[in-house]
Parts: sequence; C-alpha cells; structure tokens
Amino acid sequence: MYDVKSMAAEEFINDAEIRDTLSFAEANKNNVEMIDQILSKARLRKGLDHREASVLLACEMPDKVEEIYSLAEQIKKDFYGNRIVLFAPLYLSNYCVNGCLYCPYHLKNKHIARKKLTQEEVRREVIALQDMGHKRLAIEAGEDPVNNPIEYILECIHTIYSIKHKNGAIRRVNVNIAATTVENYRKLHDAGIGTYILFQETYNKKSYEELHPTGPKHDYVYHTEAMDRAMEGGIDDVGLGVLFGLESYKYEFAGLLMHAEHLETVHGVGPHTISVPRVKPADDIDPEEFHNSLSDDIFCKIAACIRIAVPYTGMIISTRETKEVRDKIIRLGVSQVSGGSKTSVGGYYEPEREEENSAQFDVSDTRTLDEVIHWLMTRKYIPSFCTACYREGRTGDRFMSLCKSGQIQNCCHPNALMTLKEYLVDYAAEDTKELGERLIQKEIENIPSEQVRRIVTERLALIEKGERDFRF
Ligand code: SF4
Ligand code: SF4
Repeated sequence: MYDVKSMAAEEFINDAEIRDTLSFAEANKNNVEMIDQILSKARLRKGLDHREASVLLACEMPDKVEEIYSLAEQIKKDFYGNRIVLFAPLYLSNYCVNGCLYCPYHLKNKHIARKKLTQEEVRREVIALQDMGHKRLAIEAGEDPVNNPIEYILECIHTIYSIKHKNGAIRRVNVNIAATTVENYRKLHDAGIGTYILFQETYNKKSYEELHPTGPKHDYVYHTEAMDRAMEGGIDDVGLGVLFGLESYKYEFAGLLMHAEHLETVHGVGPHTISVPRVKPADDIDPEEFHNSLSDDIFCKIAACIRIAVPYTGMIISTRETKEVRDKIIRLGVSQVSGGSKTSVGGYYEPEREEENSAQFDVSDTRTLDEVIHWLMTRKYIPSFCTACYREGRTGDRFMSLCKSGQIQNCCHPNALMTLKEYLVDYAAEDTKELGERLIQKEIENIPSEQVRRIVTERLALIEKGERDFRF
C-alpha cells in the first residue's frame, strides 16, 4: 500500500498509486476547473504533489499548456534569476559488473576499451578541466567492487580537491556512483562531496528488473532505497533522475515526484537536484530499441512541470541534448548545465583515440566551455561557477529554508558575478571577455543591497588583481 513515510521502496514508490495517479490525470486532463485550481496553487510557489502535477503533464489544451510554460518560466526567474551554474562530468572508470541494457558499459559489451584512471591520469584530467575554467565536477564510475571500490573513489576525490594549478581549483565534487551502504555513504560525506547523484533509471519495478537483468543493480529495492541510506550516512544533498525513454514518461514523472515527497517527508529535505537525461545513442545501444522515446516538446513539458512541482530543486541538463533543446529547456526551468563535456574515461587531457571508444553516450552539444559561456551570455544568462553553499555549510534543510524564503538569491547572484569574473580573467576568449565584462557591469546594478553592491565591486577589483575564491 502507498505510504509516503514508509522506508520500503515499494510502499513509497507504489505501483498501484502511480497507476491510479495516471488514470486520475487522464480523466481530468480536460477538466478546466481543476487545472485552474492546480495552477492557482502552483502560483503560490510551494510546489505540487504528484497527482496535481500529473494532471498538468497530461493536459493538452493549448491555452493551458501555454500557462504551464509561462508559470514555469516565471518560477524559474523567481528562484534562480538568470543564472546558470556550469559543471563537467569526469569519468573515472568504465569497468562495470552490471548488465544495464541501455548503457555501453554493461559487462557483456566487448567492443569498448575498459579504462580506469590512475591518480596521475586523474591529475592530468583535472588540470585540463581547471584550464577550461571548471570549478565543479560530477565524478562518474561504473559499479565494480574489484576495480572501482569505494577506496578508489575516495582516493580520486582526495586527488581532485588537492590539485591547485595556476588559479584553478575544483571546489565541489559531486558523485554519481552505484547504490552503496550507509557506511560507504558516510565515507563519501566525510570526503567532502557536494551532491550524491543516483539515477533511478526507471521507477517501474518490472521494467527495472528487465532492463537490469544481471549484476547487483538488478535489486530494485536496494537501488530505490539508496537515497535514504545516503541521508542516513550524513549526505543531505542528493540528486534524483530518471533516464527518460525507458518507460512511459508519465509513469516516471509520477514516480520521481513521489520519491521527492518521500525524502521531504522522512528527512525534512527534498532532492537537491533532479536530472533529466534521455536515452541516447552509444556503442551497442540504439535508442530506437526503446519504445518510450520522447519528442523534444514532451521533454520540455516535463521540465516545465518539474519546475512547477518542485520549485526549490535544481534541475540539470547535460550535453546529451542539442544546443536547440538546451536553449528552450533552460528557459523553462533548468538551473545547471554541463559544458565542454567528455563522456569517455579520460579525454580532457588528450582526445581519446577513435578505436578506444570508452564513451558512455554520444555528446550532442559538442561546443567548448567558452562557446557555451558565450552563448549563455548572448541569451542574457549569467554563467556561474559558484560552489559556495556546501563550503559555507549551507546544505540540507539549512539550504532549503534559505531557498524557500528566497534569501539564497542574495548569495547566488553576487557569487555568480564574482565567479564569472574569475573565469573571464583566467580563461575566456577575447570576445567572451568583452561580453562578460559588460554583463557584469549591468548586473551589479541589479544587486538590491547597496552594501553588497559595494563589497562585490571591491571584490571584482581584487579578482582583477589576482585574488580568488570570494563568496557569500
Ligand atoms: Fe554500469 Fe551504470 Fe552503465 Fe549500468 S548504467 S552498465 S551500472 S555504468
Ligand atoms: Fe548554488 Fe549556493 Fe552558489 Fe546559489 S550560492 S549558486 S545555491 S552554490
């Protein structure tokens, strides 16, 4: 039976409740009165539950869909302003003992080179990432207790944080590794990670078991309860995600929100982020084989409905998506994007040889980080390399209460300007620099507090002179 407070996966993600929600949404998708009531509630910016949000997702009335989009845009502006946080993935190892049918790293795939970065290679990759301007990484590794034990992951985190090259530094390491034990989550917490990210892939248990026929990941319950163990281990910023295209998107959407509701109810903190990847081509993987692939329009609608349902949760989009899709979806609610990404093990320091082919998926947006930054600024966004919150102890419920009161904006906006300034001084191409300097000058005027404006102006001058890492 459905129970949001239960610690049992099949009770807080309950199949019958999801199916009931989908029937309810289908029955009410043209119910103007109900949709208006839901939109009115959403305008309070306190979010929606999985049932209400599912009705919006099911709605196809063009004028109401327009309202959904414009509300999502407004909520995005209210909570995140015009800032977009940048990050890059760093693949440490593609050894994996699982049999996931949608991922080229699955154990039986013999076409790809298996690689695991040594600490020296991690160093080289991180220096290359620092030289691009990155400050925030998401490390990724397949599940393999022999090749990628927790000690290896911890050693890599330690190496990454220890590298200070020129003015560069990786200031936040988010971790995307397989579901593990409370004890291992505690070790990750103690190593100073930012967010622990684990994609559910699909919330549908039957599909999940079919898509993960072999390996420890086959265990749906263990995987679905991972975030509760992570929180028990002291990690209070967790990132959810599903791989859209594996199951019906409406089912995944309801499951995702139920998971968020469960975390909020039980731990007092909802997910820090939600990622919205879609199945993409890769070695041994043809997305056409998955019959639930989504159109770009539906994908954007999902993002808008997530933005409305969980206004305080950051939303992440990767370079799996094209520039055109990223352009549209950022407006509707995405707050973090990757840029200049390589999805192979290694590849930042020197391009991978074609025959090695260790990429997890094909990158659709192949622009350099500088091109992405330039593009964001032409769209009037402020690219941000801010990593301040967790370094200032603003995590979990402390972070969420600042977010919900809107006070976090007083940190995000000046931090975005100062970290952008660092980027412009240290790494930007000439035309990016010119555009960025003009943007910063204009944006300083939008800082409401005179005192903060003065401090930021002073700090920007100090950054010009070589000082780094100011933050609110
Ligand atoms: Fe391994 Fe993760 Fe790929 Fe599955 S999705 S094969 S667990 S790397
Ligand atoms: Fe993110 Fe906190 Fe920086 Fe705002 S101040 S951009 S919430 S890290």
